[in-house]
Amino acid sequence: MLCYTIPDITWALTVIDLIQRAAKDLVNSSYAIALTGAGISTESGIPDFRGPSGIWTKNPEAERRAYRSYERFMEDPKGWWEERLTSPSLLGDLEKAEPNPGHYALVELEKLGILKCVITQNVDALHEKAGARNLLEYHGSVLKLRCTSCTSRFRQDEFDLENLMRENQLPPHCPRCGGVIKTDGVAFGEPIPSDVAHQSPEEAWKCDLMLICGTSAVVYPFAQLPRIAREKRIEKETKGESGLYIVEKIPAVTIIEINAEPTPLTYERISDYLIQEKTGEILPKIVEEVKKVKR
Ligand SMILES: [Zn+2]
Repeated sequence: MLCYTIPDITWALTVIDLIQRAAKDLVNSSYAIALTGAGISTESGIPDFRGPSGIWTKNPEAERRAYRSYERFMEDPKGWWEERLTSPSLLGDLEKAEPNPGHYALVELEKLGILKCVITQNVDALHEKAGARNLLEYHGSVLKLRCTSCTSRFRQDEFDLENLMRENQLPPHCPRCGGVIKTDGVAFGEPIPSDVAHQSPEEAWKCDLMLICGTSAVVYPFAQLPRIAREKRIEKETKGESGLYIVEKIPAVTIIEINAEPTPLTYERISDYLIQEKTGEILPKIVEEVKKVKR
């Protein structure tokens, strides 16, 4: 039987100690990246999907439509676009949400030259609104449209969708390759766009520190990213008791988890330690510490 335990360090140190440790680890890293999920957006008032007041708990019909959406798009892109422009959004008012201190703290880490990339599962565009530069939106963004052939992204207002509908010209077509345009958000059953599907594992492979913020990373293929980082090993030579040198393969990536509750990443020891708190509380404190350590 497998027995999962939470890393001892998580219990042995106080939250303040762990914040200081995370700050030191970040300053000592040479290529830090962050993975983010729904947990970083809840403090911006974005409801989850299946919780008690979740978007789909309150509107099961929206969930049924969301499940069918990609199939419907593939069958009839014109009809899909007409439906979309004439019925309320499946995701509610995501476009109006504003970033919170967690998003801004990650932008500060990027400006300090420590954080090299953010890979988010969120479609709410809050990292972009906060000013993130090197951002991979794994499941797309509510603010964008995407060409299904060449993956070019466009702002919604680059297309006069209402006019295209009036003139019976839907679906919109890509000005670069002529491909059919869809919303950027990745629907159920839709493959992850090829650019982010390639760049994200490359970033996970390249990093030496991974900050996991507000995600339990259980949805594949996103969930493979921390596991790729955990697999990465470097060789370390140590002198054994006999005087001979031994080459050990040790984990090459420090994985720090900030989540309100322990997750499979904690129990499976994929993360080195868990700071169990809200990301909006902890990330700004880590940035403060980073600035002290760097001084
Ligand atoms: Zn295109």
